[in-house]
Amino acid sequence: MRGLVLTCAELYTPLEVIRPATIRIEDGRILSIREGREALGEDLGECIVAPGFVDVHVHGYEGHDATSGEVEPLLSLARSLARHGVTAFVPTTVTAPHETLLAAAKATAEAMAAQGDPPEGARILGLHLEGPYISPGRRGAQNHDFIRPPDWEEFRAYWDASRGHIKTVTVAPELPGAISFIERAVALGVVVSLGHTNASYEEAKAAIAAGASRATHLYNAMPPWHHRAPGVVAACLESPQVVVELIWDLVHVAPPMLRLAWRLAGSLRTALITDAIAAGGLSDGTYTLGGLAVEVKDGVPRLEDGALAGSTLTMDQAVRNAVDIGIPLREALIMASLAPARACGEPTLGLLRPGCPADFVVLNEDLSVERVYIGGRRLA
Ligand SMILES: [Zn+2]
Repeated sequence: MRGLVLTCAELYTPLEVIRPATIRIEDGRILSIREGREALGEDLGECIVAPGFVDVHVHGYEGHDATSGEVEPLLSLARSLARHGVTAFVPTTVTAPHETLLAAAKATAEAMAAQGDPPEGARILGLHLEGPYISPGRRGAQNHDFIRPPDWEEFRAYWDASRGHIKTVTVAPELPGAISFIERAVALGVVVSLGHTNASYEEAKAAIAAGASRATHLYNAMPPWHHRAPGVVAACLESPQVVVELIWDLVHVAPPMLRLAWRLAGSLRTALITDAIAAGGLSDGTYTLGGLAVEVKDGVPRLEDGALAGSTLTMDQAVRNAVDIGIPLREALIMASLAPARACGEPTLGLLRPGCPADFVVLNEDLSVERVYIGGRRLA
């Protein structure tokens, strides 16, 4: 592929901020990033260049469902998300029957193989199994009928069907057999995330000692934080190895609690996620999620009982929401790119550095997405 030279007012690596900057791309990878505007480059004026966003927890968007068990919806989802600045993502299933999850695992592997180089949409990094190994008492919008205790043989079937592309599994660590399940999953290279759980502080710490390294949408679907019952929330916030996911739609979590979590965990341990569902990007109305009816009103999806059922959030909106409630832009960009990339074991994604894939966004001054590049190719 031909080389590309762009100059911009500000570039976030995202740890470093370079003003103004020139970025050179060759063969889909970053060749150099230097201060100053080079005359040879295309001038992007006042625009900002930042790493592409990485969404590690997304169920669907614009009608495309990650749990469908088919390849085409995953590839369509990849294209839909890319329009919102996402350059890599982990499609996430909901609690579902065995055959459905098996089909989703197989479809993920096939979709990954079908993506070209560079892909036409966001890179599919593997599958996030959110459930079925969760607490019935903290099911949120997960279908009660298919919740079950951790089952290693069953999980191995998903692993095999995905050809080793299960990136993440959300587990409630207080369930019978959960700790040995976590140890085995971690040994396989899977990121274990604590979520949909009633775990005490002690139970959560035991899971972290067993290798769990993420919290699935911190605060949501877990016991509230209490000063005499610190619980899983405090265990995750205080443990250096745990990255906390936060649904930054300003609906799932009140802004002061978002700021508090960010202050405690820091930007590199906080991952903005959308938890978006297939109804995202569509009009208000009635949809289904894991076989349950979901009513979307004013962009907020809920079950009949009022429980929040994922979101219609996008990653670019999550970044704007973070800045709107007082998070500095550099920190918001770290939480949307580098932190989630590290949280799913992708050391060359979520940052702009020579040798890394040229996956980046061009943002306007109001942080709307102007352009998206994946592997150095501008998306149409
Ligand atoms: Zn979810």
